[in-house]
Amino acid sequence: MIYLDNAGTSKVSDKVFKAMEPFFKEIYGNASSLHSLGQIAKEHLECAREKVAKCINADKDEIYFTSGGSESDNWAIASIAKYGALKNKKHIITSQIEHHAVLHALDELKKQGFEITYLPVYENGIIKTEDLKNAIKKDTVAVTIMFANNEIGTIQPVKEIGEICHQNGVIFHTDAVQAIGHIPVDVKEMNIDMLSMSGHKFHSPKGVGALYCKKSIPLFNYIYGGAQEKNRRAGTENLPGIVGMAVGLEDAINEMPEVSKREKTLRDKLFEELSKIPHSKINGDKINRLPNNFNMCFEGIEGESLLLLLNEEGICASSGSACTSGSLDPSHVLLALGLAHEVAHGSLRLTLSKYTTEEEIDKTIDAVKKVVEYLRKISPVWDELQKGVRKYAL
Ligand SMILES: *Cc1c(COP(=O)(O)O)cnc(C)c1O
Repeated sequence: MIYLDNAGTSKVSDKVFKAMEPFFKEIYGNASSLHSLGQIAKEHLECAREKVAKCINADKDEIYFTSGGSESDNWAIASIAKYGALKNKKHIITSQIEHHAVLHALDELKKQGFEITYLPVYENGIIKTEDLKNAIKKDTVAVTIMFANNEIGTIQPVKEIGEICHQNGVIFHTDAVQAIGHIPVDVKEMNIDMLSMSGHKFHSPKGVGALYCKKSIPLFNYIYGGAQEKNRRAGTENLPGIVGMAVGLEDAINEMPEVSKREKTLRDKLFEELSKIPHSKINGDKINRLPNNFNMCFEGIEGESLLLLLNEEGICASSGSACTSGSLDPSHVLLALGLAHEVAHGSLRLTLSKYTTEEEIDKTIDAVKKVVEYLRKISPVWDELQKGVRKYAL
């Protein structure tokens, strides 16, 4: 199998797997217990916290472990909402291309009387800071804008966004799930108040993540129970997962210069070769995007059929977000770029990892060319386009 769905989830590395092993059957104590096995567990927990903090230039007591990216996003937004309600500031700014963990959490807030502004991202998939400045009002409590998009990989001007937020006394949260471990992230330099991350996007296990919250920002309790995570998020810590994530993150950051260079070379080969397919389009900015993200549309075909046929060729690909598959609506991200519905349906996302080889990329290029050609041959839409009954959009 050629695995090119690393933005969906990634394989746990050998190093991470080995680092986790002792925490299942040897160091299995509860970090809240007073006996020595518990205290050893506690030491490892705090050591992992320190490692994660260091990786994003935060302080140790600004890191809260969670069950993943979705929980971190939901917690950040719930906490912002509580603070906003107290201060009578009920306006939040976000972008049109957020992950559903953010968008659906904000939908809930609308029911509680919050007003949400969705900044447009234009054809390149990037917000304009001018739009953000214009959107901020007296009752704006927070801005939540993702660091890098999970479908098209575009990177937002995070540092400038943070600067604008701070000039206006507004909290800045960023969903950095796709960015962490893939591109440099520094919460201090980038003016970030709150940040979400998830282990399984950088060769660490699923079901573990973290929320960074700057000390000066109020963080309200999310899960009630024991005193874990400074009384704010109860529940016995997922120590194997937490240790694995810390090791995986350190590893990803150490390897980043080399890995991102390799990924980018292979990704650009995909772009170059697959752009030769007529009536196709690269989705999102070509430069300002994650090094491992490829996303293109091919007119006149169905993304779902493309995925099924690529799967038969031994290639694990995606049409966009794993979370929207199964629904017939085209991706909200591609629609936000201004693509027509029928074009957005013919999208393909390939996301690489450090394990991706050039041989795999060459095979993928041949397979995509072959499958697109075949699907167009049997497509009534393509037939109409060719006969001029219908006009090409690309
Ligand atoms: C994967 C992802 C999430 C969700 O993270 P989970 O750990 O799967 O809950 C949130 N935001 C973005 C941008 C993601 O890519």
